[in-house]
Amino acid sequence: MSLFENTLKQIRKASSIMDLDEDIERIMSVPQRKIEMQVPVKMDDGSLKIFPAFRVQHNNYMGPYKGGIRYHQQVDAEEVLALSAWMTIKCAVVNIPLGGGKGGIIVNPKELSEGEKERLTRRYVQLLAPAIGPDRDVPAPDVNTNAKIMSWIADEYSKIVGKDSPGVVTGKPVGQGGSEGRGEATAQGGVYVLNEYIKHEGLDPKNLKVVVQGFGNAGGIAAKLLVEDGYQLIGASDSQGGIVCSHSIDPNELMQCKVEKNSVKNCGLHVTQLHDVEGVDCKEVSNEELLEEECDVLVLAALENQITKENAPRIKAKIILELANGPVHPEGDEILNENGVVAIPDILANAGGVTVSYFEMLQNADGNYWSEERVKGELQDIMVKAWKDVKCNAEKHQSTLREAAFITALSRLEAKIRERGSF
Ligand code: GLU
Repeated sequence: MSLFENTLKQIRKASSIMDLDEDIERIMSVPQRKIEMQVPVKMDDGSLKIFPAFRVQHNNYMGPYKGGIRYHQQVDAEEVLALSAWMTIKCAVVNIPLGGGKGGIIVNPKELSEGEKERLTRRYVQLLAPAIGPDRDVPAPDVNTNAKIMSWIADEYSKIVGKDSPGVVTGKPVGQGGSEGRGEATAQGGVYVLNEYIKHEGLDPKNLKVVVQGFGNAGGIAAKLLVEDGYQLIGASDSQGGIVCSHSIDPNELMQCKVEKNSVKNCGLHVTQLHDVEGVDCKEVSNEELLEEECDVLVLAALENQITKENAPRIKAKIILELANGPVHPEGDEILNENGVVAIPDILANAGGVTVSYFEMLQNADGNYWSEERVKGELQDIMVKAWKDVKCNAEKHQSTLREAAFITALSRLEAKIRERGSF
């Protein structure tokens, strides 16, 4: 089953619960435009390589297409399509005036020099320039892309259109028109929602043990924020493996150790425990083993389809926070539901990233830059409101949070498409 079939399944499920207009469901089930490119790059050794690349513009009824660009050796057209549709839904869940898009280049960026990566990025922008723009389609970081790559995109696009256009892309460095708080936004948004859920359930973070899959940009920051809020971090992994400890780990030390030793899996002996207790012990685990560890909250911040029908029955966490896009396969999701595991779905949990991207667009448009406090405050307001809307729909329809998040988004999209009289 392709990733986009997962998306379609989720749309159909929500649509049947809420009785969505069939034509709206059909509109949401197809992208408005798919762009396929072949990007030629002169490599450092003088040879020429051609990298296949995509941008899918799923839907712009709510506003300009919006979504990241990922650089990955396994990315393909179907994956980018699924991710673009989730962007449309995600923006509607948090009710920001943006549509959905996504880009990807088939490349292992770890095999490229900095110069090769820059030439690849600039050439991609040259091919894509007619289709993007601050009011048309605004890319952002995603897997393996970062603020530096975003500033190359802004620079190349500005050269092409002959005027400074920082608003063509978000997630830029702060000195290049980026927003304060954008780097932490995905994690921060997820933590705001998790805290609301915990409060609603009458739970105390101090009693909750957390395991993080994907201790990187989103997962590493989430771990830090969760520990600041009182949760106990007991395990973490990255692409190479991980560790699980008998007592809580200091996320800052773990991050420092990961940088020095290349992977958290090499850090078992090096992380001091937050609390000075006897008999503390860490063991090395594979990524698969980490998911099945005894814990209360499992944060999924790596790639898609990590929980499937195979491992879902063995998941011991009671709450899953989906910071990655599509980390739970629909078949795995059914099993989690049957077992009473609550998943805070990606389209709500990780929407903080695109929300602060929207703030960045607003700041670029009027040249007035916000303080970090303002960004955080406005992000919290939007995430808490989205949580309440989703919770309300879950109660109304007796549905899961995922179904309720889709229902929240699809009803907004339906109203907007009708008001515009677009079909
Ligand atoms: N790549 C992020 C996501 O999947 C952020 C997208 C954006 O900021 O436009 O939500």
